[in-house]
Amino acid sequence: MTKFSDLDLNPKVLKAIDEAGYETPTPIQAGAIPPALQGRDVLGIAQTGTGKTASFTLPMITALARGRARARMPRSLVLCPTRELAAQVAENFDTYAKHVKLTKALLIGGVSFKEQDALIDRGVDVLIATPGRLLDHFERGKLLLTGVQIMVVDEADRMLDMGFIPDIERIFSLTPFTRQTLFFSATMAPEIERITNTFLSNPERIEVARQATTGENIAQGVVLFKASRRDREGSEKRKLLRALIEEEGDKCTNAIIFCNRKTDVDIVAKSLKKYGYDAAPIHGDLDQSQRTRTLDGFRDGSLRILVASDVAARGLDVPSVSHVFNYDVPGHAEDYVHRIGRTGRAGRDGTALTICTPRDEKALDAVERLVQKEIPRRDNPLKSAADDVAAKSDADDDASGDKPARKKSARDKPAREKPAREKPAKSKAADDAETPQQADSPEKPARSKPRHDRQGDGKGGGKGVVGMGDHLPSFIALSFDERRTG
Ligand code: AMP
Repeated sequence: MTKFSDLDLNPKVLKAIDEAGYETPTPIQAGAIPPALQGRDVLGIAQTGTGKTASFTLPMITALARGRARARMPRSLVLCPTRELAAQVAENFDTYAKHVKLTKALLIGGVSFKEQDALIDRGVDVLIATPGRLLDHFERGKLLLTGVQIMVVDEADRMLDMGFIPDIERIFSLTPFTRQTLFFSATMAPEIERITNTFLSNPERIEVARQATTGENIAQGVVLFKASRRDREGSEKRKLLRALIEEEGDKCTNAIIFCNRKTDVDIVAKSLKKYGYDAAPIHGDLDQSQRTRTLDGFRDGSLRILVASDVAARGLDVPSVSHVFNYDVPGHAEDYVHRIGRTGRAGRDGTALTICTPRDEKALDAVERLVQKEIPRRDNPLKSAADDVAAKSDADDDASGDKPARKKSARDKPAREKPAREKPAKSKAADDAETPQQADSPEKPARSKPRHDRQGDGKGGGKGVVGMGDHLPSFIALSFDERRTG
């Protein structure tokens, strides 16, 4: 078996690998490092978790250890679809380049332009960026890509999903024709194939085995769920999710809950928190410091439940989790594989449970076709109390408040019609909400009393003034009552 020391890596890089505790390259590393060191283009078909990051960082550091960067002309470029992935790649460089003098800059949203500008101005060996942010800098005349000797495209299939392919093509065209390209993708969609045919030159193709999708160590299950009423679907689904978590009990030490929509990520996290679960959301609309804090907490075990969108979670190197819950069946069957691959790592046991509404059944078929296996149906833990669920579900949740959701649609009901805290139509409004802001309001249970009443003047008769909610200035209530009694 190949050892790192058999590869022609810089001795200082080998030292850092040794200090990181690695001896044997993973298959993608063993396959990609030798041709990369020879200066050849590489097409790596591998997913996260295979060690693919080191398969490009190690030869890059070796190649870049010689030579010096010139102002505003990075010597190498790594493109990543998300900030988290970019930050992870940057960490990899920190780990493996610690004995080599190498400068790097990170161009991602949420990191100040000014600081990164200053770094780039001085000259960097490695520039790690998301495509949009990189082009922003380029267009502001802060950056020249004509000095790029090595260009890496990481998670190209995710770039495709996110609509970054035109940006990638543009970036390719701004770099020298003579550059070396290391290109990684978990799958080879036709569009990806086209890009690699256009921009890679006689690449060494390394394909590593797909992550086991039906690994014996991952117990999978799907609960078929139909809401008692469409406008109660959100709250009933969240109740079902809690019941599934409870059913798993102590076995569920930590979990990732995947939602298809960012709005649901927020709502589910908020709902779980309200019910006393240690949960936090992560998706692309949250600011960088919050995302970093949440992820750090999840990695170090201080956060038990991460509620995530596919984009935010893709490519993240999180330790094995005991459970994955799919709040929705993913729209792309491939994502199911990525999601459940978060559990049962390194031969440990894992559980992946999916909630499937009638609307999701087609997507479930697609998943089962892809994994070539029927996912065992699992009883709805709330079923025995089904009537109870129907009666109580809308009383259970943050978003819906304690009253049954009214039949009116969210669009029919301007927010100002109701006190801000009550929002009886919220469960539907929240589930349909397009932006997290819209979904963010159900912070408090709906039944908070109007303030003047809570203050105990006793004269309000328990009823607030419709339309003013908690914000009713107490003197208004007093003057009403005084006129009536006086
Ligand atoms: P990646 O696929 O690059 O996200 O890497 C997944 C995980 O594998 C990371 O936690 C790496 O630190 C780890 N890793 C990378 N190379 C090796 C190796 N040769 N042996 C064992 N673990 C590795």
